[in-house]
Amino acid sequence: MQTVWVFGDQLNRNIGAMANAEPANSRVLMIESAATNGRAFHRQRLHLVLTAMRRFATELRVEGFDVDYRRAPSFRRGFEEHHREYEPDAVTSTEPNSRKHRALAAALGVHTTKSNQFLTHPEVFAEWAGTRQRLRLEDFYRWQRKRLGYLLDTDGEPAGGRWNYDHDNREPPPSDGEWQTPLSSPMDAVDREVFDSVSGVGRDPVGWWPTSRAAALARLEHFVDSGLSGFGRHEDAMTTQSWHLAHSLLSPALNLGLLLPDEVCDAVETAYRAGDVPISSAEGFIRQVIGWREFVWGIYWLWPDQRDENIFAHHRPLPPSWDGAPTDMLCVAEAIDGLEKRAWIHHIQRLMVLSNFANLYGMEPHLVHDWMRERYIDGADWVMGPNVYGMGLWSDGGRMATKPYVSGGAYINRMSDYCGECRFNPRKRIGHDACPFTTLYWDFLARHEETLRSNHRLARQYAAMKRLEDLPQVRQRAAEVVAGIEEGTL
Ligand code: SF4
Repeated sequence: MQTVWVFGDQLNRNIGAMANAEPANSRVLMIESAATNGRAFHRQRLHLVLTAMRRFATELRVEGFDVDYRRAPSFRRGFEEHHREYEPDAVTSTEPNSRKHRALAAALGVHTTKSNQFLTHPEVFAEWAGTRQRLRLEDFYRWQRKRLGYLLDTDGEPAGGRWNYDHDNREPPPSDGEWQTPLSSPMDAVDREVFDSVSGVGRDPVGWWPTSRAAALARLEHFVDSGLSGFGRHEDAMTTQSWHLAHSLLSPALNLGLLLPDEVCDAVETAYRAGDVPISSAEGFIRQVIGWREFVWGIYWLWPDQRDENIFAHHRPLPPSWDGAPTDMLCVAEAIDGLEKRAWIHHIQRLMVLSNFANLYGMEPHLVHDWMRERYIDGADWVMGPNVYGMGLWSDGGRMATKPYVSGGAYINRMSDYCGECRFNPRKRIGHDACPFTTLYWDFLARHEETLRSNHRLARQYAAMKRLEDLPQVRQRAAEVVAGIEEGTL
């Protein structure tokens, strides 16, 4: 009998090697590696993955599969123990979702079946990338829309008349926003058993993250009914009033295979066609899934060397505030606190608060990558590499994004309600109450002028910098800010 090895981020009966497996012809192997549990991952991340694995194993047993679920010091040891005990005719797995696991599967002689967990196989993405000089997300996204048939009218034109509603989706948070109430699940015996076995950082789980396919499908339905219509307009907003706003919170379930991208997009398109949600929300959401998410997946496989660059030569270690020390920067404090409590913050907090801060302050890219990968509930290897090196930090030198996503306090002030409560002033760049983001932003432009001044997308910013009469004082203040962040006094 063959063995199908199911990795912890492929928990779906309908993908790859499991799609054709039956109890009569296949045994299932699942391995919990102690090496993973020993790392500094957020407890909720460990709890989510291990609980979802155990529930999936139970579902397969109910279906009649013989499941060898083992805990081992490493995946390799678990595999070898399984082999010795069961002597399978062959071991097959769905193509693993990380380079490390693919290399391991190859080294162990595991036969891999093509994965359909994503809508764009890396081979298809590589073909699309072809000899293009620049891989533009918008080109990829439109190609995906046409290829996959989402939000198209019968004449092949985009539903609603436009391909992209991003400009409608940048509203700041309303003062009286009424947000969905996300579903949560009470913790049961399986949750508690897993939770008692995990170490790691962060607060205990309270049931926000679905750990089974049934729970994930319920979350999808709930989001489409109650959150989706408000998603578009406030996609980029940040507020102390709500940690989730109208975000779907489905990325952890998608990244573990509990949901598949096409069923999520189908549900959103159905709601749009029924007239239940505006086009800006449906398009904005589907763009995240078939556009950005699949683009990142493709880039991960296409450019394994993306992580090797450090274009800004940033080498600072993580500051005390990223290790739980208090900070007066309210936007940073909110983001770190959100991660501590839920292992999740939304994409603008990730990009324009934490990554922006990391770049302005000059943190070592690998340290930032590892810190985020361990703390984000959905921080898969393939997600974090392109998002951190290509987008958040631009440390790859602009292979993926045309300019670094850096800003001063003005952007955060426009898109959030943080600054009014903060002891710093987002409009000030010098003085003790100057916003550290604003001070460091000008300092960043000045210190990387040689690298960035020929970038036409930053021409306006450099022209503005040249008009700053107080630039020397700003740079002096920047040195004080850096020292304060390093010492943990800011
Ligand atoms: Fe963040 Fe600056 Fe606004 Fe304070 S003033 S919340 S540090 S952007």
